Amino acid sequence: MQSHLLSIIYLIGSVSFIMGMKMMGNAKTARKGNLVGAAGMTLAIVGTIVLHEGEVSPVIYGLILLAILIGTIVGWMTAKKVQMTKMPELVSIFNGMGGACAALISLIEFNHTKHTTHIMEVVEHIIPSDGIAPGTFFCILAGLIIGSISFSGSIIAFLKLNGTLDKPVRLPKYNIINTIFLIAIVAFAAYLFKVETPTLVYALFAMSLLYGVMFVLPIGGADMPVVISLLNSFTGVAAAFGGFLYGNYVMLTGGILVGSAGTLLTIVMCEAMNRPLFNVIFGAFGGGAASAEGTSEKGTIKDISVADTATLMNYSKRVVIVPGYGLAVAQAQHVIHELEMILEERGVEVKYAIHPVAGRMPGHMNVLLAESNVDYGKLVEMDDINPEFPNTDVVLVVGANDVVNPAAKTDPSSPIYGMPILDVENAKHIIINKRSMNAGYAGIDNLLFYNPKNSMLFGDAKKVLTELVAELKTM
Ligand code: NDP
Repeated sequence: MQSHLLSIIYLIGSVSFIMGMKMMGNAKTARKGNLVGAAGMTLAIVGTIVLHEGEVSPVIYGLILLAILIGTIVGWMTAKKVQMTKMPELVSIFNGMGGACAALISLIEFNHTKHTTHIMEVVEHIIPSDGIAPGTFFCILAGLIIGSISFSGSIIAFLKLNGTLDKPVRLPKYNIINTIFLIAIVAFAAYLFKVETPTLVYALFAMSLLYGVMFVLPIGGADMPVVISLLNSFTGVAAAFGGFLYGNYVMLTGGILVGSAGTLLTIVMCEAMNRPLFNVIFGAFGGGAASAEGTSEKGTIKDISVADTATLMNYSKRVVIVPGYGLAVAQAQHVIHELEMILEERGVEVKYAIHPVAGRMPGHMNVLLAESNVDYGKLVEMDDINPEFPNTDVVLVVGANDVVNPAAKTDPSSPIYGMPILDVENAKHIIINKRSMNAGYAGIDNLLFYNPKNSMLFGDAKKVLTELVAELKTM
């Protein structure tokens, strides 16, 4: 009876994950989708604890509750406090925790399974009396390897994103070393499969942790979003192995969903950056090396005042705003919406050009602009807005840099070469708002600043846009 009830709970949990995920595909229902998924997970956890078969001592229940309490408080406080721009760091650390859980489950279950006599399986001659069933052992080893790689890799990604590790560390021939090391891990796991020696499982754990570090260390900062979503899919797969191990369908469904969603996101991001995944992992892109080439022929920089910008925009027919990371840092999403509304009132058509990797997380600009109630229909994806630039009077680039850098198209030596960008140079006038001539995330120079059609509107985005709105109101 109890197990039937638990199966029903797991079914409800699994369905709510799927529904929650579907709802997250739309900005309007995303928040509710998150809650639906979380409710399903809570139900599954409570069901597992309450309807668990067999005797469990009160001390164990106490420890489980204590762990849940600590996890909830830490998770809640961290998520509440985190700034939107720091979200990828939070995702990578949370993802690392998921990988660590999967690895720990494998470590514990190896010892547990090794010392448990599987009477039925022995009686039915499925396994020898002192062995672990092959399927179980495979799940344990796969969960251990993938979970450990995901854990240590995510920690390195976190340190790279928060600037602690700001340079990629590359051993000579690191690609070959890493590939050989990965083959060695798989071979060692196969050996372990045969000998089942408990101490060697810890060696496999240590090797996998080390591989996670070696895997992410050489990859440059600009590729971190792809790496994080790849590690995310690893954690999902490791959790799914845990689901097989326990015959727990909700864990299996959750793991498969995370694994497949992470894989799809990785593919979508690679496509957005026009780079094969192989190249991301082995190409060591985005090392942050500034391109020094052509510095003497860069040209001159033209400044523009707030008043002149207001006049130019006021008499335009079509304006495209390109939001970037700096808009999020300045928290200027509300004032930019105000600017858009004033211009629209004056008969100017305003659209936002959304680059898939603008900001610091997938969908960052969509989330940011949704916060200030910008009409979703005004957000136009890169492929759709690019043909519209020749008919655009003014492009206002606010706190964006890499996503409009023409080096991606023209300079094969540039680390971002090949990444599709917003073709803003095709517009009649370009105005770039940022605080200085500093580089963006990829750490490279941007020749767009020197384009004769471009004028720089220096200053903090929120301050400058507030002044611009005030100026427009006087016109
Ligand atoms: P960039 O990081 O290229 O440029 C942002 C620019 O904003 C900087 O040059 C900075 O210049 C300016 N800026 C910062 N603060 C302010 C402010 N308060 N007011 C005005 N300007 C400001 O951003 P993009 O959005 O163009 O590109 C995103 C980059 O981040 C890409 O390289 C992408 O690969 C990477 N990335 C993307 C992730 C994603 O999932 N979207 C995740 C992680 C990285 P200044 O200092 O002079 O003001």
